[in-house]
Formats: sequence, C-alpha cells, structure tokens
Amino acid sequence: MLKSLRIITTYQCNAYKFKPAINSHGVCRFCYRHPEVFTYDKKTIDKLLSRIRENKNITELVFTGGEPLIAKYIKYLIKSSNSFYTVLHTNGLLLNKIHNEIEYLNCISLPFDGSSKEIFDYYRGDGYYDLWKVRMGYVLSRKIEIGFNTLITPYNLKDIFNIAAKVNQINPKYWFVKKYRHINIANENKDISKYFELDSGIFDDVIKKIRHDFPQINLYSTIYKGPSIPTLFILLNGKAYTALQDSKEYIYLGNIINDGWDRILNNFIEYKNQENWECK
Ligand code: SF4
Repeated sequence: MLKSLRIITTYQCNAYKFKPAINSHGVCRFCYRHPEVFTYDKKTIDKLLSRIRENKNITELVFTGGEPLIAKYIKYLIKSSNSFYTVLHTNGLLLNKIHNEIEYLNCISLPFDGSSKEIFDYYRGDGYYDLWKVRMGYVLSRKIEIGFNTLITPYNLKDIFNIAAKVNQINPKYWFVKKYRHINIANENKDISKYFELDSGIFDDVIKKIRHDFPQINLYSTIYKGPSIPTLFILLNGKAYTALQDSKEYIYLGNIINDGWDRILNNFIEYKNQENWECK
C-alpha cells in the first residue's frame, strides 16, 4: 500500500556555490537531478495537498529536489503539510533559513558521504563538510528526527565501515545507502559511471556486513532483488512520475491535481512491481 509520497519541490540546487575540491570530478557529478524547470504558486500547493488528503492511506510526505530549501514557497509548503509526517531531504546548506518552520517537520535527512572532510568535500565541493557539521549539530539540537543517505562509490568504499560506526553513534531514524545508477539525464552523454559505479556484488556484500556488524541501525538499501517499495514522485505542479531501477527515464503517470488519484494509481500499479527496493 502506498503510504508515502516524494514531493519534488524543485530540480534546481545551490550545491554549486562550492568550488570542486582538488582531484574531485566536480561538485555532485553523481546527482540524479532532472533538468526540468517547473512553476507553481500557493494555490497550486493548496490544490495539491487537498488532492493528496483525498487518499487516506498517505501519511508521509518527503520533500526533495534538487534542493527543496531553494524552492519557492517552501515555508508555506512545510507549514501547510503539518497534518502529515514530513521529511525534508536536504543538503542542509540553508537549514538556518527555516528556523521558525523547522518545528513543523518531523525528520530531516542529510547526506553522510564519509567519515572525513576530505571525502565529503571530494563529493560536494571545497567547504561543504564544515557547513554540514554545523547544520547537523543544529538539527540534533532541535531534537528533530534525523536520517542519513550515503552513495557508496569506489571512492568512499574503503571508508564505509567508519561511516557506519559514526552513523551508529548518532542513532538516526534511518540510514539509506545506495549505489550509483546511470540515470542522470543531464549527464547522459558523459561517462561518469567509471568514477561512481560500484560492482553490485561488492555493494551487496557491504550491505550484508553492515547489517551484521551494526544490527541496531535502521538500514535501507537499493539492491537488485527482493521485495519492492513502490515510489511515486509528485512535482509541486501536480505532475506524477515513477522510476524504475534500471531506467534512465522517469515514467510520467499524469497530473494528480487535474486527473485525480484513480488515473495515477492505475498507471502506477502497472509499473510498481518492477521496482527492486528492499527495506530491512
Ligand atoms: S546531490 Fe543533492 S546537493 Fe548535490 S546537486 Fe544533487 S540535489 Fe544538489
């Protein structure tokens, strides 16, 4: 049963304020962001939320992007969604801007790329780690649930059990560990897989060992077998998509504001069993 929706607030991102670290392949070159630019206003947000509320099974909204904190009307969206369990999936850079709205959120999910500044900055630019540390401290001080997400690549593979130990100490609500997939439409013609893609067998072995060594971590991971968790992405203008594990494209299902739930769910059901996600 579909209980959670991923709300794409924008595909834009502010990550590029940092310069690439020496020897890196660029800031966030692994990112899956879609290049689409879309518009909406407060009335569209109201219509979208009331449409979502028609489906009583939906209890959780995950605000994601791009970087949701640069999206127009993000404060309004956060406040208006307080009847749901809400998760903000952010790079954290602008968390200080929602000082008054943060109490309306239930969980904040931050990247956890490595156990050192060197690894964080390799992925996200020179200076990211120092700000990330401040922002993580801020989230912990506000007693909001925290989640982490980690992309394992050949670069941070050697560090993964150090990361796991640090995550374990913090005891987050969850830790989502994923493997690079070549679905970045913006980078489709650029061969970046060689920098970020990890052998599936190695990835699965690492996940098994983390589960064995740190059984108390609530670990989620992408794998290539096992039961699925259906994922529905909805843009703030109402457009709904799903994504398949091995696809470079998002699959358009309709506009939930105009078309309603029936059409979206019927289209979604055709695809959802093809997804390969595992939840511990
Ligand atoms: S990985 Fe996150 S922070 Fe980096 S560009 Fe993509 S959306 Fe922005």
